[in-house]
Amino acid sequence: MNHLDQSQLNLFSSSTIDRMARTVGDVDKLDALANSDHARFLPIYNTKVLVANKAGRLTAAAIEKAELASRFSYATPPVYLGYKNDFHYFAVRIIGANEEVEKFADLRQLAALLNDNDAALLGYALAITTWQRNYEHCGSCGATTVTRQGGHVLQCTDLACAREHYPRTDPAIIVLVENGERALFGRKAEWPAHRYSTIAGFVEPGESVEQAVVREVAEETGVEVIESCYHSSQPWPFPGSLMLGYTAHAGRSQIHLNDRELEDARWLNRQELIDHLVSGEFLPPTPISISFRLIEDWFNRQCDVPFRMWCENNSPMR
Ligand SMILES: [Zn+2]
Repeated sequence: MNHLDQSQLNLFSSSTIDRMARTVGDVDKLDALANSDHARFLPIYNTKVLVANKAGRLTAAAIEKAELASRFSYATPPVYLGYKNDFHYFAVRIIGANEEVEKFADLRQLAALLNDNDAALLGYALAITTWQRNYEHCGSCGATTVTRQGGHVLQCTDLACAREHYPRTDPAIIVLVENGERALFGRKAEWPAHRYSTIAGFVEPGESVEQAVVREVAEETGVEVIESCYHSSQPWPFPGSLMLGYTAHAGRSQIHLNDRELEDARWLNRQELIDHLVSGEFLPPTPISISFRLIEDWFNRQCDVPFRMWCENNSPMR
């Protein structure tokens, strides 16, 4: 499968919105869009999103302006997200606490229950509003910032500085390392009991993505990566990373937890993975994550019963 198709299987990147690059700089047009019947607003409260229950199905709460104004307070102008299926979407940072804010929820908990389109929309809204919240003050001089370009630029209000800040996305690698029939899994002490995942970490300054793959695996597990191959990516809006998924092959395979970031790391072949799933000793990563997809692709290459089915039958999919 090519990388485009692979990436579209990842939640948060499976649905594309038209980001309308030429519209975000046109203040009058944005204002007209925000006041039109085709405007829909996605309220975000701190790091939480709002969902609605439509006939037993969870959807993103995409509300009209009148409802937004009657239920919530917001200070900064809505962020224009783009156009999809006849609607123009805006993310809105809700301020002030009233009984309405208690209805907001954690997207990470809900994402698996939403359709791909709504999960992608809320992920985008959450990522850009989180960035805005973190840049209320200029990183250069400390003065306050104001929104420009439909909310996609924050400009410093100090005239001598006037620096423009752009949304940031932090690259991180996540890699399934193979050695013969086995794959490498690790767990952090703070995770739920028995939760294992593939190896992951942030790309550091002055480093290529491929170097980050080699370094993270060596630091966390002592295993040597001698070959890596790009798989797919996933925007991961908790809080604003871009997960770059790789598969890799190991040279020296002896495990040593060098930086103690992991509590345990182990090699498992497919049969051992099944045995651990059945006995409850292996809780897979959340099925919305690229980590799950990397494991799934590796596992399904040589097993007739898909990994997802083993997980659904043998562990709570969290
Ligand atoms: Zn400044």
